[in-house]
Amino acid sequence: MSQELYDCIVIGAGIQGSFTSYHLAKKNKKTLLLEQFPLPHSRGSSHGQTRVIRKAYEHDFYVHMMEESYQLWSQLEKETNVQLYRRTGLLVMGPENGKEFQLLKTTLERNHVPTVNLLGDEFSKHIPLVNLTKGNGALVDTTAGVLYADRALKTVQGLFQRMGGVIKDGEEVNAIKPGSVVTVMTASGTYSAKSLVITAGSWANNLLSHTGLHLPLQVFKINVCYWKEKVPGSYSIHRRFPCFIQVESEESNHHIYGLPSNEYPGLMKLCYHIGPEIEPDERDRQTDREDIDILQRYVARCFPGLVPVPAVVESCMYTMTPDQHFILDSHPTYSNIVIGAGFSGHGFKFGPIVGKLLYELSQGEVPSYDLSPFRIRRFQTHSKSAL
Ligand SMILES: Cc1cc2nc3c(=O)[nH]c(=O)nc-3n(C[C@H](O)[C@H](O)[C@H](O)COP(=O)(O)OP(=O)(O)OC[C@H]3O[C@@H](n4cnc5c(N)ncnc54)[C@H](O)[C@@H]3O)c2cc1C
Repeated sequence: MSQELYDCIVIGAGIQGSFTSYHLAKKNKKTLLLEQFPLPHSRGSSHGQTRVIRKAYEHDFYVHMMEESYQLWSQLEKETNVQLYRRTGLLVMGPENGKEFQLLKTTLERNHVPTVNLLGDEFSKHIPLVNLTKGNGALVDTTAGVLYADRALKTVQGLFQRMGGVIKDGEEVNAIKPGSVVTVMTASGTYSAKSLVITAGSWANNLLSHTGLHLPLQVFKINVCYWKEKVPGSYSIHRRFPCFIQVESEESNHHIYGLPSNEYPGLMKLCYHIGPEIEPDERDRQTDREDIDILQRYVARCFPGLVPVPAVVESCMYTMTPDQHFILDSHPTYSNIVIGAGFSGHGFKFGPIVGKLLYELSQGEVPSYDLSPFRIRRFQTHSKSAL
């Protein structure tokens, strides 16, 4: 029996693989999306109900990509009649004269992102239940808000299938045979395509080992902490409490960020932007609580309306690159294998634009953006392959 030949196979049905598949199907490419776990699942990085969307970045290239990403999110909402985004604004706090706060501020100004600076008394007038640290500046990226993550994932996968795309879940890819036709194997079948996109999140290096490539990725467990409001609703999305990022604090140099209470009424999500390093298949084996201790001290000091002990803790994973920029590139040896990896804890909001770029790379098209910050060669990675 002759095997079906796909235009493209995408491995990994997180937000990046799902959006890549959507763009492929939209261009009438015969596409197969393979996922190791039965969908939906909570073992990767794209689960959970909410993510922050923002333009507040230190680098112009992210701000430029976010311009289009917002448009693509909105287009998906229109195509499906599903609400995926709610505007709340993003409060950025950090040492006024610190490098990171200043970089964010000047990048926002240079790119004409609508921003409000909250000076002195204005801070406590607009944000009454947060203690701004002495010497900290505060600004609000007014374009920012909340993305309904689980809903977004389901929506984009559903649309992909309605456009004729095929999803096979519960099928772990356990072998890849590169070539002008790429073949991938699972316990249930063998599939072939003209091109392959690998968007395997924290498992990227497992798959890339079949192609002789190893990327400098580190996987971290993130404890997703929800904190009880002393007065229910006081940090609620319905009261227009914003998302926030604290860029440096007395407690840590790593970011602390939060989203208004929404998915679990009476509980605000507030997390630390790093955690213990782990193996993705043993995510919850690590019981280090240093990150939670840091958060407790921060909450007690800066969020007086929250009980400073997390009421609910869920788990998620970050896959970090050394410079925390994404990897969006073709394989150094096999040009018809494309890699989207290392989203470093900030990739969800870029899903639509990452999907478009990976689609373009998979079809040999010139990418819509300069991908030099995202190329593999920046790591001087040595390929173990014959070349
Ligand atoms: C707690 C937390 C908070 C975050 N907050 C934000 C935020 O506010 N804003 C933002 O923009 N981003 C945020 N992020 C980051 C964002 O969620 C991730 O960058 C994004 O979800 C990564 O998507 P992905 O598709 O690369 O990975 P994943 O979602 O992990 O998808 C990879 C998929 O590949 C599958 N897979 C792996 N190996 C195989 C195989 N061999 N065969 C078949 N399938 C395979 C996996 O099962 C998985 O489903 C956050 C992340 C976390 C963890």
